[in-house]
Order: sequence, then C-alpha cells, then structure tokens
Amino acid sequence: MAEKIHKCVSCTTYTMNEKCPNCGEATILPRPPKFSLIDKYAALKREAQKRELIEKGLY
Ligand SMILES: [Zn+2]
Repeated sequence: MAEKIHKCVSCTTYTMNEKCPNCGEATILPRPPKFSLIDKYAALKREAQKRELIEKGLY
C-alpha cells in the first residue's frame, strides 16, 4: 500500500500529488509519528486519515 500521502497546508486536503487538486498549493509530506510508545495512536491516526480520504474519494 502506498503511503506517500501529501497534505495541503492551505486547505488540508490529502492527495497523492505534490500539488493540491483543490487550490493548486504545494503539498507537504507529513512525517509519520515514530513507532514506539505512540504506536497505537499512530494506527488510530492512520485509520482516521484513511476514512477522510475515502470520504473525499481520494483513497
Ligand atoms: Zn489545497
């Protein structure tokens, strides 16, 4: 599964592209949290992001 999810800092849209499909702003590649004590939290966060992508039809 590809994990190269970029995030637009302008409208917070998640996309696979380096440019936001909504507003054309450059997107960033959010650094995933380190997998240690917050592993469980990271998993929840990924799940939330996945749901958001599905809602926006980007997944
Ligand atoms: Zn945007």
